[in-house]
Amino acid sequence: MFVDSHCHLSFPELSVRIDEIRAAMATARVDRALCICTTLEEFPAVHALAMRYDNLWASAGVHPDSEGVREPTLADLVTLAGRARVVAIGETGLDYYRLDGRSVDSMAWQRERFRVHIRAALAIALPLVIHTRSASDDTLLILREEGAATAGGVFHCFTETQAVARAALDMGFYVSFSGIITFRNAAELREVARFVPLDRCLIETDSPYLAPTPLRGRTNNPSYVPFVAEQLAQIKKCSIETVAEVTSANFESLFKRASEPIDRVPSYEKLD
Ligand SMILES: [Zn+2]
Ligand SMILES: [Zn+2]
Repeated sequence: MFVDSHCHLSFPELSVRIDEIRAAMATARVDRALCICTTLEEFPAVHALAMRYDNLWASAGVHPDSEGVREPTLADLVTLAGRARVVAIGETGLDYYRLDGRSVDSMAWQRERFRVHIRAALAIALPLVIHTRSASDDTLLILREEGAATAGGVFHCFTETQAVARAALDMGFYVSFSGIITFRNAAELREVARFVPLDRCLIETDSPYLAPTPLRGRTNNPSYVPFVAEQLAQIKKCSIETVAEVTSANFESLFKRASEPIDRVPSYEKLD
């Protein structure tokens, strides 16, 4: 059984097909998925998925690329993350890829938002789902300054260097690989994946984006995560069953609240 540790099932292109996707997941032996939140406005939809289906969970957070949305306070994040079925804070981090002509200096708001997420994760003792793109130095610096190692978490959709992976591992973080490791031009990233010990790896789709080879170009969904596992198995020279087993165990160790049964959720929580 496989776990998709990062998907966006609340996005409209996937949410309208939820029954079909859940059936495809069952066929592909993908028994669980973590639905990632990118804005406070989106949280109710993400949370509703986790409340409705016992194999889906939710995160609470505002993506670094989300602009023109409500800015989360520490209290906002702590409140939402305290809801049943919420197992992580994020996705959060830094993204200097889409500066659109702005300077890195002018992205102070992103760094401040990131710090607020880390403080929330520490306050409520939940792991962080980190998004970092073209900003690894500042990401690592802020994680260190804020003492994020205590909260732990995962660098999701990893595309950075081995040195960044080393730093993430040294802080106790997991590293999650997406369909990008199946892409023809991703030989360097496959080398990084070889370097990261399997017992610190997660797998994800980041759907609806980044459908793996041989399905590249399609709308991605959690039922495609075995293609990522298959690639990782080739890299690690082990069986796909081993990858499924170890990455599922890693998911459980990191997102501890995901082990709580849904029927223990108080009935007032189920109302929203
Ligand atoms: Zn991301
Ligand atoms: Zn994402």
